[in-house]
Order: sequence, then C-alpha cells, then structure tokens
Amino acid sequence: MLDTHELGRRPGSMRALERTVAAPADLGTAVIGIPEGAELALDLRLEAVMEGVLVSGTVTGTATGECGRCLDPVEVEVVADVQELFAYPERAGAAEDSGDEDEEVSELEDDLADLEPSLRDAVVIGLPFQPLCSPDCPGLCSECGARLADDPEHTHDVVDPRWSALESMFDPTNVSDETKES
Ligand SMILES: [Zn+2]
Ligand SMILES: [Zn+2]
Repeated sequence: MLDTHELGRRPGSMRALERTVAAPADLGTAVIGIPEGAELALDLRLEAVMEGVLVSGTVTGTATGECGRCLDPVEVEVVADVQELFAYPERAGAAEDSGDEDEEVSELEDDLADLEPSLRDAVVIGLPFQPLCSPDCPGLCSECGARLADDPEHTHDVVDPRWSALESMFDPTNVSDETKES
C-alpha cells in the first residue's frame, strides 16, 4: 500500500518514492517468479492529476525458476514498468465514464493506493515465457538425462535392434566377422 496523503491533491504536485518492499505471494508464473518475501525495489513517481494520483515508475526484483531445457536453477533480473491511475473515490465514477468501459479504475482508499495488482501484472509480463540458463543451453540427453553442457561429446552406443538387423542385411561381411569373433 502506498500512502499518497503527503502528495496533496493539487494537480501537478509530484513526489518521488524509492522503497524496498517484500514481494507478495504468487508474483510470477508456473515456471518462474519472484519468491514471496524477496526484495522488490520500487522506484516510483506519484503525480496528482485531476482525477486522482498517477503512479508510475519501475519495480526491480530477482525471479528464480528452472531452465526449461536442463532444469538448472535460473535467476533472472526483472525490471518492470508500472503505471496506474488511482482515482479519488468521488471522481472514480467520472473516470470510469470517460475511460475504456472494460477497464476497471483503481480507487484510492483513505489516500492509500493498492499497487499490488499492477505490480503483479507488470512483473509477470516482464518474465521470460520459457526461462533458460543460457540461450544455447543444449538441454539433457534424451537417453540418460545427463546435462549435455557438461559433456557435449556425449553419445550412447546403443543401436536400435531393428537398425542392426538392417545393417546386417546390407553388410553381410561385417556380420560374419562379428559372428567369428564372438
Ligand atoms: Zn539449461
Ligand atoms: Zn546420455
């Protein structure tokens, strides 16, 4: 909650606000998000306008998740833009009439602005859809699940039995050699 009381109501008055807050729960998606209680740095500007208080600025935090390919832990610095108009309760009706009908106007309650919904929207939009530990992460071996980044030359000499049957059909000498050896 942001207290806008000190700002006053004269249109044009402005206040900068820098604050570190604890992240609320569910700040992210299923694959990556800012953990609850982690530091969120707010760098905001509060501006009194006719209809209410315009809050704009950035929120910065560190999201954690798993690489979508190799499942390694991933940390992503999130810097999200926030902008939200909080209408004075007695002006909220007017703001709703003039604005987009689908858009719900946030209201100030006792000079307090609930920034959480807009923070959540801004942060979620700023998160990667599929987080990766590095853009060219090779992922895991489909055969044994090893991390291919640790061992790029990694192969398995497992030959599909149907494939070896084909090989023997096309290369009879090879088969006879193997038969002799075994
Ligand atoms: Zn990875
Ligand atoms: Zn493998």
